[in-house]
Amino acid sequence: MDDDCLTISPPIYMVGMKIGCWRCGERMPVVALLAPTVEGTDDQVCVLLDVVSLPKDVLGYVQKRVPTYQLSYSKTVQSKYYANVCPKCRILSGDFFLHSEPGAPFFPTCAEEAGLLYLAEIPVQGPVRIRAGFHVGTGRLILKYAKRIP
Ligand SMILES: [Zn+2]
Repeated sequence: MDDDCLTISPPIYMVGMKIGCWRCGERMPVVALLAPTVEGTDDQVCVLLDVVSLPKDVLGYVQKRVPTYQLSYSKTVQSKYYANVCPKCRILSGDFFLHSEPGAPFFPTCAEEAGLLYLAEIPVQGPVRIRAGFHVGTGRLILKYAKRIP
């Protein structure tokens, strides 16, 4: 068992919004995964980041909606992870940029910011294992205020 591998029981959600690419300004979708039931976290609502491996059905679901969520090499972290890539200039908007600063897309600080995100449940059968990091603290706000879509 690898420590980086999370065991997640359903539900698991895809969350996202559109932002302007930091380099070329193109409107681009960004997504992340949200999981309220991650083993060993006392039912904290986890927002996943630096996702290195995903089950095929989860990846398929996300990429069907957002094909620019791709396994990409990041110079910042010097390895590959599933990142949001600009459809026009191909630069990636790294997870550090999207998750780490208060007010960032996946770090809402209030109901209003969380309400800018959409939330869709990814259909999975039973627990899944995902190699990724996560952060907690903003997940509950997202789960409560993001716009639920089918
Ligand atoms: Zn761009």
